[in-house]
Amino acid sequence: MWWTDLLLYFFPELCLVCGKRLSRAGSILCLKCEYNLPKPDFGNLDNSPVNQTFWGRVPVEKSTSLFRFEKGSPYQVLLHELKYHGNQAAGLYLGRLLGQELLHSSLSGCDILVPVPLHNKRQKKRGYNQSELIARGVSEITGIPVIPDLLTRTVHQTSQTSLGRYERYQNIKGNFSVSSRAPDVNGMKILLIDDVLTTGSTLEACSWTLLNYFNCRIYIATLSLA
Ligand SMILES: [Zn+2]
Repeated sequence: MWWTDLLLYFFPELCLVCGKRLSRAGSILCLKCEYNLPKPDFGNLDNSPVNQTFWGRVPVEKSTSLFRFEKGSPYQVLLHELKYHGNQAAGLYLGRLLGQELLHSSLSGCDILVPVPLHNKRQKKRGYNQSELIARGVSEITGIPVIPDLLTRTVHQTSQTSLGRYERYQNIKGNFSVSSRAPDVNGMKILLIDDVLTTGSTLEACSWTLLNYFNCRIYIATLSLA
């Protein structure tokens, strides 16, 4: 909204969710909003709803998300900032939070982080790939290296929001390929990183692209679960 933009212009160090002044440099949330982030309590990762998304579709070892994305939630602003308002600091910051969650799980044993790529055209327009920023934040905390160009997106996809899960996957399954500059990642545990998990079609397509090319194991972490 215009007034939040105006406030941020004059007082850039404000919590994105509640608008309070921030005391910590490089953060985008105050301590209270960070603490109240709607984190899903998955307990055992094996049965998490994130894991269940991929059951019967693609062999994903384990997967998790940092927070739940609910319509009308004040936390919705985080993804908007990251994807549409050029707020790259939000990607790094949320990536670090995701990294802290991963430290306490078996996903911290992965060998490399691979962000879901954007098509060149879209990345040029946006100026960055939000999933790569998240991966960089995760890497800062976990020490796992990021390989941003392992996968490339070969087809420029228009919006898929009107399609169901099956149609989305049919639409997107041929859109990724292993980059010609890709290092040999045979035998590795690959942690795919994306911003939002909705139907899982994009991550399914990325997973199959890697599994068909390499002898590897796939893990998944996203910022939010829609
Ligand atoms: Zn706050």
